[in-house]
Amino acid sequence: MSNPRLEINCAKIHHNAHILFSRLGKKNISVTPVTKVCLGHPEIVQTLINAGADMIADSRIENIESMRHSGVTVPMMLIRSPMLSQASRVVQSCDISLNTELAAIKQLSKAASSSGRVHGVVIMIELGDLREGVMQDNLEDFISQIIYLPNIVLKGIGTNLTCRYGVDPDNDKMSNLSDLADEIERKFGITLDIVSGGNSANLNWALNNKKKTRINHLRLGEAIFLGCETLYQQTIDGLFTDAITLIAEVIESKEKPSLPWGNLCLNAFGEQQKILDRGNVSQAILAIGRQDVSILGLKPPIGVNIVASTSDHLIVETSDFSLTVGQEVRFQLNYSALLSSMSSPFIHKHLFEN
Ligand SMILES: *Cc1c(COP(=O)(O)O)cnc(C)c1O
Repeated sequence: MSNPRLEINCAKIHHNAHILFSRLGKKNISVTPVTKVCLGHPEIVQTLINAGADMIADSRIENIESMRHSGVTVPMMLIRSPMLSQASRVVQSCDISLNTELAAIKQLSKAASSSGRVHGVVIMIELGDLREGVMQDNLEDFISQIIYLPNIVLKGIGTNLTCRYGVDPDNDKMSNLSDLADEIERKFGITLDIVSGGNSANLNWALNNKKKTRINHLRLGEAIFLGCETLYQQTIDGLFTDAITLIAEVIESKEKPSLPWGNLCLNAFGEQQKILDRGNVSQAILAIGRQDVSILGLKPPIGVNIVASTSDHLIVETSDFSLTVGQEVRFQLNYSALLSSMSSPFIHKHLFEN
């Protein structure tokens, strides 16, 4: 089989998605799977739809367009604020987008009007993680300016926490969002269909919450593909954490000194390390590197230590055994390793059922 490769077990992804849909469904929370980590891969998207997804979310218009081209017909949600320059593509392929800027929604309104479409918007609200979001003090004014724009429908509100600063989407934050939904509905005499509480970082809250809230929607990527939540990187009960694994091949294996010799300067990446003389070590080189994957996000098998990486090489040491040339080594991935390896054209994607 081709190396390096990602082994993508669609049955396990199906299982993870199905379990999350049903557990959260019992809490009246609908889940929209986020496909940016898999670039909208058609078979993976089909797996998610088979598991019960009635909408798909992605942050990139390119991924959404490619899903449309491969025949995906379910509603699509764009979860990064649209670029003004992409407004017409957005209304063409997406049913709903998450928004925080008046200029963008006006552009969407224009594009939707001229193509005879109606575009749904969810207004993202700043709750403290300081990424996208309308400041709460400006929310009423903001909504009053978009609510009557032609061919725009206000679908709801939402928030995104954790991604920048790790702010916990806890009870306080979710009550805050829930209260804002009530206030907006009262103030404008409308109904908000979607109150989107967040991403995989919301799962501890969502699965344990017993209070009634207005939060009825989550956008989930990591939890479906990696089986864990974001805040503490804990496995979610009953989910597979090995639905996707990365395999790389050994291209050199030798006993070498641990200490380099010569005049030591900066390496290819402008780094300089303190090096201890540990005598001779059993060192192997795998044919995968920084161009392919975020190395810090790789978890090697027991007995294999990652010691360095360059553009094309991953250097590992083993203590009780040595690797052989041609041998395959299997890695677990965190979110950043998953995102990068899925996006690398050099890594083969091997999908299978079971
Ligand atoms: C990526 C993303 C998500 C999904 O995040 P996960 O942690 O993978 O669940 C949700 N919402 C937005 C706005 C995103 O950009």
